[in-house]
Amino acid sequence: MNFHEYQAKELFAEYGIPVPAGQVARSGEEAVAAARTVGGNEWVVKAQVHAGGRGKAGGVKLVSDLDAVRDESIRMLDMSISTYQTGGRSLPVDSVLIAEATEIKTELYLSALVDRVHRCVTFMGSAAGGVDIEQVAETEPEKIVTVHVNNTSGLQAFQSRQMGFGMGLNGKQVRQLSGIMDSLYRLFCEKDLSLVEINPLIIDGAGDLVALDAKINADDNALFRHPELAAMRDESQEDPAEREASRHDLNYVTLDGNIACMVNGAGLAMATMDVIKLNGGEPANFLDVGGSTDAAKVKEAFKLILSSDRVEAILVNIFGGIVRCDLIAEGIISAVQEVGVNVPVVVRLEGTNVDEGRQMLAESGLDLQSASDLNDAAQKVVAAASGMEVAQ
Ligand code: GDP
Ligand code: MG
Repeated sequence: MNFHEYQAKELFAEYGIPVPAGQVARSGEEAVAAARTVGGNEWVVKAQVHAGGRGKAGGVKLVSDLDAVRDESIRMLDMSISTYQTGGRSLPVDSVLIAEATEIKTELYLSALVDRVHRCVTFMGSAAGGVDIEQVAETEPEKIVTVHVNNTSGLQAFQSRQMGFGMGLNGKQVRQLSGIMDSLYRLFCEKDLSLVEINPLIIDGAGDLVALDAKINADDNALFRHPELAAMRDESQEDPAEREASRHDLNYVTLDGNIACMVNGAGLAMATMDVIKLNGGEPANFLDVGGSTDAAKVKEAFKLILSSDRVEAILVNIFGGIVRCDLIAEGIISAVQEVGVNVPVVVRLEGTNVDEGRQMLAESGLDLQSASDLNDAAQKVVAAASGMEVAQ
């Protein structure tokens, strides 16, 4: 689950990580009131969406009077933002953060994430922070300092110092960075996060470190332990199909291709996507309907994959180990009848009661192509998506 910058900064403040004073607003009037509460005579208006890259998309503006606070806020609240981080979608701006403007001497970068390769939390930092960090990582990776945290002994003081000196900080700033990294690590572990990113972490006019931006991602599987985090969820920022899937307990991820997949079991779903790609096709989604799926779930899954207008063919690949193929066939038939499927559907069924299942599909009178194995299924669906026929 992702958070808005203002929510992440509330968590930072709770853990003693320095952030500029700020307040969230949902209208022009609220924005002016927020600017008055924050005080000072220069503010930054920041569109709150679940993505970075807002600065380059017109979602971050420095202003120096209350009329401009109102005007910029109204302009942003009217926008939807699409950046290189939104995966082709446009995110609605329902709130803005009004923060005190901070003088920036240097923009640094600091993040912590679950590092699956090293099986630990890894911190990454750089003196070259700011809006072009992705480019730095690509072209000058030596400018990024990495610290792996031992899971048992935790973050050590020497590691934070290593990071600080690697970033070119002075003694006072290295001590501040150590405090920030200790707090971040505590926040990370206590709240079961998977990513924290501060870009930029700045050196302000007084030479002190301040978190100017904040991005947090929490592990969905641990949300039940953190009702205070779950309460911060903003569904308007999420992919509508993925949101609908989580309501029906389906594991679904939208992808860029045109071949929808409906599979039981995450491993088989990944293998199915691999075989589609091997045959020159592109999957439109990852969908695991679960080991104990039933006809009703299959129907929901069909509705879900058909909600995308990108889909040009569907591959159903079910291995009936725990589930029975006749029940799956029943689900497919009622879904195709009810939902009105207007793209080719290739079905590969295998396992318990497979003969009954295949017979039901064959006698349904519906336009379903049956496949004998996974490779055959992939070839047929790739051909169907590109409007070709495969010899039976
Ligand atoms: P992002 O583009 O979504 O990552 O949004 P950020 O919060 O990182 O802001 C983008 C850029 O706007 C920063 O890298 C800064 O250069 C600039 N910026 C943001 N807040 C302030 C501020 O208070 N003062 C100044 N001078 N610049 C700011
Ligand atoms: Mg940023």
